[in-house]
Parts: sequence; C-alpha cells; structure tokens
Amino acid sequence: MLAHYFVAIFLLSTINSNVYALKAYSRYQLWRLYVTNNEQGAKLLDFSHTAYQKNIDFWSNNYGTNMPIDVSIAPESINSFAEFLSSDDMKIKYDVIMKDIDAVIERQNLIHKLKPSSVFVDDFAYDKYHPIEEIHAWIDKMVKTYPKLATPFKVGKSYEKREMKGLKISSNKRAVKVDGTPVNKKKAVWWDGGIHAREWISPATIIYMVHALLSNYDKDPVITYFVDQFDYYILPVFNPDGYAYTWTNNRLYRKNRSNTSESGCIGVDLNRNWDYHWCEGGATHDPCSGTFCGSKPFSEIETAQVSRFISTHNGIFVHYINFHAYSQLWMSPWAYTLTKPEQFKLQDDGSAKAVQALRAVFGKY
Ligand SMILES: [Zn+2]
Repeated sequence: MLAHYFVAIFLLSTINSNVYALKAYSRYQLWRLYVTNNEQGAKLLDFSHTAYQKNIDFWSNNYGTNMPIDVSIAPESINSFAEFLSSDDMKIKYDVIMKDIDAVIERQNLIHKLKPSSVFVDDFAYDKYHPIEEIHAWIDKMVKTYPKLATPFKVGKSYEKREMKGLKISSNKRAVKVDGTPVNKKKAVWWDGGIHAREWISPATIIYMVHALLSNYDKDPVITYFVDQFDYYILPVFNPDGYAYTWTNNRLYRKNRSNTSESGCIGVDLNRNWDYHWCEGGATHDPCSGTFCGSKPFSEIETAQVSRFISTHNGIFVHYINFHAYSQLWMSPWAYTLTKPEQFKLQDDGSAKAVQALRAVFGKY
C-alpha cells in the first residue's frame, strides 16, 4: 500500500511540474466566428495582422464565408473583442467553443500520462504524442526492425542545433509503369510534419503511416504495391526547436525559434518562408506576428535545408505532402493567387479521391 502511495505521489508531482512549466492559458477562450459576407472577411483579415498585440490569435487562415474562423482570446481582451464583433459595421456572430483553453491542455496532459496505450506495437505507443527525442529514437528503432526497407537520413541541424532527422522507405523491387514496363529510375515521395510546432497530430499521423507501410509490407498487397512504386522520404518533425518548445514552454507555440530583428519576438513561420511568391498572401513582415515570413525567402535554416535536400535529389520527387493539423482541409497549389495552375485538374481529382478515401474510414475527416 505504501509503495502505491509513493507511486501516486510521484506521478502527480511529475504531472504538476510539467503543467506548471508551461505558459498558462488560464481563462483564455476559443471562439468560432461566422463570416457571412466578403466585407466582414476583409475587415477581419485586416484586424488579424495586429491582433497578437491584444493576445488574440487567429487559428484559421481562411477569411471566406465558406468556413467558420476559430480565434483564441486572452481574458483581458474578451470584452473588447466581443464589442468589436458586434459593432455596427461588423455584426459577426460567434460561439464560445472553449471557455478555458488551459483546462483543456491540462486535461490532455493528464489523460496522456494516465491512460494506457491501446496501440502499442514495436515498443512504441502509436496513440500517444511523443517528445522529439522519443521520435528520433523511434526512427532508429524502425531502421533496426525493418532493415530491408528503412534507412535514416539527415537534412541538417535546426537553428538550436537539433537534428532534422528523417526516415527513407525503399524496397529493392523495381517500380513499373501502368503498362507493366519497368521504370528506369524510381520516383520519390516527400512527406513532412510538424512545420507548425503546436500541431502535434501532424507528426503523430506521419509516424502512424510510416509504421503502417513498414509493418504491412509483404503482407498487404496494396501497401506492398505502393511501397514498391516509390521511394518515401519522410521528415516527421520539420521544426524540431518549435516542437520541443511546445513540450517545455508553450503548448500553443507555432513558429521556429530563431532570433528576429525585433527583440522579444522570436521565430519565423516556416510555412511562409519559401522562395515562391514569398510573403504575398496570408503572411506578414511583422516579426511579432504568428505568420511572420522571415527577413527573406529561405532566411531560416530549416526551410533552406529541406529545399537544398530536395534540389540535390533533382528530378526524383514527384509528390510532396506537408501535413498540418487544423481546418479539416486538403489543399493544393496555389495559395498566393486564385488563378489555377496548369495541372489543376490532376491535383483536384487526386485531392477529391484522397478526401473520399479518408472519409470512407470513419465517415469524417
Ligand atoms: Zn499548420
């Protein structure tokens, strides 16, 4: 009995120390806003650029009338934001969907620690989130367990010198074209997750998918076929510094951890730092904003290194998926313009099939 008592105390004190090290979101609320016309959307977009000054954070980046917009609000800004939304020239309706974000974070921490894993395979809990060190150890474990298929690769080191560690899946079978003739040089697929630090389900999803490919190879004919057709380069955590920071300091942190020109404002939105129509839409030059695009394209070591890695494997990559965790959207290029790309039909047909396949599993996304 005494031993149990000590175990319980130890467990609770571990939980407490973790919870209290994190930034508190006590009485922060999450609201869901319903925009009904383009004018409201434009005004809200305008407001969103400086909203961080009031500790108001727009979680959605779509200001159209087709989808609601989720916004977190610090307790001190709740009244003024409510007034702003109900003012004569806004008149935007909203629901409060979380009354205390901190309570939700704490509950997740507790459940995570206390609930045993029900998907525990190859010494790893696939239904739990894992800190960066455990994800890297898991990559090594996969390489050891599936030596004929899996090899590790390194993209480089992050700003804070963490490894950007990936895993390549490649079988020794030749890929074949639709007509059955062999492909000369196997094409490759790139998947990455966790470019936005707080989106934990993104690395977790990729980890689950990688394990599904490895453990079902030579067992499931569909998976075996897909593994044979392509080489898979997978980077589960694109932004290791930001990801580590969400475990130790701030559960809702989004950017990387590099210094900016503004002291006190850390980090660049790596998903806004690419060298193609850089910072043209949905991004800002304000270093304090959550969507800061950096001082120039590829200013950040993480994006620059991924770009270099892909460029040096020139010609083999035919597909890139960047996994996120918000909005329930399957998106394809472009984002900076409404003009459709040349391959739009191909992209759109593929997207529709992917969404259909996802929906077929649980009836939702
Ligand atoms: Zn994201």
